[in-house]
Amino acid sequence: MSKYAAVGVDIGGTKIAFALVDEKGDVLIEERLATHVEFGPERIITRIAAMANSFVARSPVPVVGIGVGCPGHVESDSGMVRLAVHLDWYDVALREGIACQLREEIPVFVDNDVRALAHGESLYGAGKNIDNFVLLALGTGLGSAAVVNGEVVRGDHHFAMEIGHMALISNGRLCPCGREGCLDMYLSGTGMMAAVEEHKPAYPQSQLQNLPYITPHDVICAMKEDDPLAIAIRDEFIYWLTYATGWITGIYDPSRIILGGGLGLALAPQILDDVQRRLSEHTLLPINQQPQIVMAQVIDSAIGAASLALANYQLSAPSNPS
Ligand SMILES: [Zn+2]
Repeated sequence: MSKYAAVGVDIGGTKIAFALVDEKGDVLIEERLATHVEFGPERIITRIAAMANSFVARSPVPVVGIGVGCPGHVESDSGMVRLAVHLDWYDVALREGIACQLREEIPVFVDNDVRALAHGESLYGAGKNIDNFVLLALGTGLGSAAVVNGEVVRGDHHFAMEIGHMALISNGRLCPCGREGCLDMYLSGTGMMAAVEEHKPAYPQSQLQNLPYITPHDVICAMKEDDPLAIAIRDEFIYWLTYATGWITGIYDPSRIILGGGLGLALAPQILDDVQRRLSEHTLLPINQQPQIVMAQVIDSAIGAASLALANYQLSAPSNPS
């Protein structure tokens, strides 16, 4: 029997996911809305607040908070979204906009979507009872978050662990951000498509050559059939993920590196064992102290968002946790 719950809201470029999540991490109600980026932030925030009000009204248990995950540069303390490129949002007062339209006084927490997922992994997933871990979320782009001594690292400007656009690879692929060799151009769906274009001429026999339009899903299916072009791309992902993992190990010395995101989860069975095995090439840590590389367990991004509010409630009311 649930004791209390929080509403989680994950704002994506195409859809907004809502979930009412109880203290055990179980989803009691869920819904989705199309984002309609063209509506602009004000109207989108009004739609979010209306759905949050409806969830609070329908909840069978007290609602202790509303957690909102948003892509981009999000300040959790001020509640402002400084920049969310895919939403075309600049300096949007997200927390205030939702809070002032709620029918009941309920605290609202906002954070970057990947940091919200890291909270979710910490409470209910592969980061549970783990003090130091890093989450790598591979989707269209590369997002990441680090938990150090049980706390999500934010930095002075809420920009810590924004590793996707660090130009770590010399003479690497040109990124839309203007730099060369950003990790985002290697460890993401965008990176996978760039790899397809690069390697395609060398594998005329690949089954992918027959497709008019290739997606990451096609490439992963072809990996399972040992298609040579897909295998070349898989090996490239193994190399760069091992490289990034070794680099993260040197900075944070985490006990786990969690691979999530839609692409990360789909790729994981194809690459994780090799990355783990080859990690010694990129770190001096003895094998028994190297991080375990595992798959994310919190698949629903709205659960991550709800965790922002649930974690806060559990911290502020330590006698209440389940
Ligand atoms: Zn870049």
